[in-house]
Amino acid sequence: YNYGLPLKVPHRITVCVRKRPLTRVESRRKESDVVTAPSGECVIVHESKDAVDLSPYILEHRFYFDHVFDERNSNEDVYQNTAYPLVQHMLNGGNATCFAYGQTGAGKTHTMLGSPPGRPGLYALAVRDIFTHLSATRTHPSLQVFVSFFEIYCGQLYDLLDHRKRLFAREDGQKMVHISGLRHVRVDSVNSLLEVISHGTKTRTQGMSGVNPCSSRSHALLQIQLRNSNQQIAGRMWFVDLAGSERASDTKEPDKQSRMEGAEINQSLLALKECIRALDRDQSHTPFRQSKLTQVLKNAFIGDSMTCMIANISPGHGATEHTLNTLRYADRKW
Ligand code: ADP
Ligand code: MG
Repeated sequence: YNYGLPLKVPHRITVCVRKRPLTRVESRRKESDVVTAPSGECVIVHESKDAVDLSPYILEHRFYFDHVFDERNSNEDVYQNTAYPLVQHMLNGGNATCFAYGQTGAGKTHTMLGSPPGRPGLYALAVRDIFTHLSATRTHPSLQVFVSFFEIYCGQLYDLLDHRKRLFAREDGQKMVHISGLRHVRVDSVNSLLEVISHGTKTRTQGMSGVNPCSSRSHALLQIQLRNSNQQIAGRMWFVDLAGSERASDTKEPDKQSRMEGAEINQSLLALKECIRALDRDQSHTPFRQSKLTQVLKNAFIGDSMTCMIANISPGHGATEHTLNTLRYADRKW
């Protein structure tokens, strides 16, 4: 399948793909790597079998994105081409959102959180640059950095910095969305950010009773705010580590809880795609209200905003179906 030529890219929305390396376990299993990434393209070549006589044949799928990163690219490489321009925009007073999308195990958390202290992810790299900028400029000496961190699970909000307290999103008279009671913590260095996140992530794990790793079932949202001396917001950025996209097909699972989780995730990921598409096409109506995720992010999307989607993919043959689903989701020609 040829999904066409590169599109002309409006600067507001960037869509990238990141392929992770085969894990040690996958290599030991001699799993084949079906993904190649020649400049800006993402190519999947895999073997399939004829439905009738089961004879094998080779399938090739080609997709084009703003950037395609492969196993040779570090978090710093990814950061420079994805979140960095958004951080600059935020430092100029703008709104920005960066998403990590993909199947569980495809590298979303590695990209966002990294493996501190050695390999920082986008959260830490962004905050590093924010502090570098604030200490280098004399124009806004009093700007402070605040973070909040919460998750959306089955359409409900839980504060990861406040004992998983239930939170509620409301729209005010100006149609701005507020999350009442959300805890904002001031950070003054990259290390203090990482401490806050590590605390929040622990809350996330302990809060769940089931056996599945909870991170595949909920969206984690980190918000970074710049505030002036009057506590007014002077720039805002969101990092969203989305629920595992494979969970969106759990709607046929036999157990009720999984079905419900799957349906919620399906709904929110579709709504997100609809909203980004509407922004991409400058449509007058953006369907924010179709999910809690998009409703909460409404402020970040509207006006002079910048958005970046990083679609994370696994390289292994066994993940081909999920990988193709991710690439189709991220494809600009939706
Ligand atoms: P997800 O958050 O999408 O479920 P993870 O980020 O936890 O996936 O990644 C799954 C595993 O693969 C982890 O052990 C992680 O360290 C490893 N991994 C992911 N991306 C990379 C990468 N680019 N380079 C090296 N290891 C990676
Ligand atoms: Mg994860």
